Amino acid sequence: MKKAIILAIGNELVEGLIIDTNSKYLSQRLKLAGYYVERILTLPDRFDLLVKEIKAAVNDADLVVSSGGLGPTEDDLTREAFAQALGLKLELNESVAGKLVERALKFYGKAPENVKKQAMILEGAEILENTVGTAPGQFLKIGEKMVILLPGPPTELVPMFESVYERLKTDDALYSRRIKTLGIPEAVLMDEYGQVIYSRPSVTVATMASYERGVEVRLTASVKYKEDVDDVFNQLLKLLGKHVYATDDEEIQDVVARMLLNKGLTVSFAESCTGGMISSVIVDVPGISKVFKGSVVAYDNAVKISLLGVSEEVLKVHGAVSEECVRQMARGARRILGTDVALAVSGIAGPSGGTPEKPVGTVCVGIDGPSGTTSKTFLLRGERNAIRRRTTLVALNELRL
Ligand code: ATP
Ligand code: MG
Repeated sequence: MKKAIILAIGNELVEGLIIDTNSKYLSQRLKLAGYYVERILTLPDRFDLLVKEIKAAVNDADLVVSSGGLGPTEDDLTREAFAQALGLKLELNESVAGKLVERALKFYGKAPENVKKQAMILEGAEILENTVGTAPGQFLKIGEKMVILLPGPPTELVPMFESVYERLKTDDALYSRRIKTLGIPEAVLMDEYGQVIYSRPSVTVATMASYERGVEVRLTASVKYKEDVDDVFNQLLKLLGKHVYATDDEEIQDVVARMLLNKGLTVSFAESCTGGMISSVIVDVPGISKVFKGSVVAYDNAVKISLLGVSEEVLKVHGAVSEECVRQMARGARRILGTDVALAVSGIAGPSGGTPEKPVGTVCVGIDGPSGTTSKTFLLRGERNAIRRRTTLVALNELRL
């Protein structure tokens, strides 16, 4: 199996100011491309150290991918360090430089000399265009080995890496599919569907259970057994039915958004314990403005009454965390925001506020739509924010169902 090494470069990483999400992403993708990722090194922007580690990595691995340090400032040394380590010259690419100057003039009204630093390309390297930011990436072949220099910002690194992904694939490339479920415990899922899940010896299975995300089944095999993976995947989808809330890279909000867009239904939310989290999550989906109109964060009872029209009687008799209350909240949101459907949540996120009848984690979800009003009560567990995140998932899941 081919070997890869990732170099995560930047003082902020070593100083603990930012989390290295680039390596997490790169190592997952490299595994799928068929590489054994042997090590991930986090390095400061220090020239001598970079040169030493780049030499060692290129010596040891078939593929070296670096992230960070391609910017225009003094502390960005990745390019220079690769040049020194590999004994290659850096050459100014006039076309890239021209574009960088043009971009700097457009955005900042001036183009300092150092922007051109980003147009210094390693001798023989292919330029990977930066469609989002400034610094281009570089792709270099040294005999059978490959070296890829990528910029640090994840929004730039990801599309750039994806643009070369197909070319990196080895004979050991993998094919993988994921099924995300809710409402079925991991042990039950494996017990009931184990026979199907393990029906193909070519397919390896990993399950990941997380309280905030439900149970995820990941099916992986060598690309040549792609059909086996798809076969198990399709069988499982059928068997798990409504328990499946999303597949592969999709999240609950993507699935709900697609459903609303397909049906042409507009939506609004009335949020109490989630404090706007459901709205925030749905707004992650590009194009959601076609269906999402707005929300009322009705945290205080007075707001539930004045804005959403929840009756004082309901609050007195049943309390704010009750199906009666969320039904009224949903009707209120649907009316004042003028949507086809409205979803409402109210719950006790804790740590205080629970009672024997309604312990911490009691969450009510109500939906009002063209065919009437429905509601459900859940008993969730975990600390405050885990409960709020889980509420967001189960509430959006109710909308899907
Ligand atoms: P720039 O031109 O933006 O300076 P660069 O290639 O020089 O790009 P760095 O200066 O190393 O990149 O990092 C820029 C920013 O990118 C960091 O402040 C950080 O927000 C993000 N970043 C860098 N490395 C990582 C990483 N490994 N994981 C996640 N984010 C990162
Ligand atoms: Mg930088």
